[in-house]
Amino acid sequence: MVEKELTKLEEYALENNIPIMQKDGINFLSNFIKSHNIKSILEIGTAIGYSAIKMANTSKNVTVTSIERDSKRYLEAVNNVNNVKLDNRITLIFSDAFDVKLDSKYDLIFIDAAKAQNEKFFEKFKYNLNDNGYIVTDNMNFHGLALKDEKEIESKNVRGIVRKIKEYKEFLVENQEFDTEFLDIGDGIAVSHKKGE
Ligand code: SAH
Ligand code: MG
Repeated sequence: MVEKELTKLEEYALENNIPIMQKDGINFLSNFIKSHNIKSILEIGTAIGYSAIKMANTSKNVTVTSIERDSKRYLEAVNNVNNVKLDNRITLIFSDAFDVKLDSKYDLIFIDAAKAQNEKFFEKFKYNLNDNGYIVTDNMNFHGLALKDEKEIESKNVRGIVRKIKEYKEFLVENQEFDTEFLDIGDGIAVSHKKGE
């Protein structure tokens, strides 16, 4: 039943230009959650709840908290989560992530919101990570644009976002607290693991 709803969400997202995770990316993330025995997840950027549902659907032991600032998308996500009866394991928060104060700790933090803000999300929410936890960031390739020469990108706005993603990559490479692996899966995924003492 969930599978059927997920297919509908994939079609809806495609028709309405909602940037949900690519198939390869979400499959990787689902397997990662299973193989690393992840139980609690914080997601930044719910959109219509597609990835939250996918992640919660990996196991009955998984809970997801997800933050969305767009009211229309948030309401759609609430509806979609209720439809698949996962409201007991998925908590949706309607807010700008920068205004949210969370005390809980999570095994996995999934950053999939405004691409120019990745470093700020990382720095804010790393305190909500359990020891040995992971921070996963989506769209490191930004639809392939982050792999291009900046001069080839016409839009100034897009160029700015691409520059930010490159800076974020540098930030992760040089980070003393986390080790990061960059995977060429989906739209590019970064997996950052908190280093042991
Ligand atoms: N994770 C979803 C896709 C998220 S798309 C999936 O794969 O199914 C990115 C979403 O992040 C958008 O809906 C956008 O409104 C939201 N967003 C961007 N910046 C945000 C912020 N600062 N706080 C909360 N949500 C944000
Ligand atoms: Mg994404």
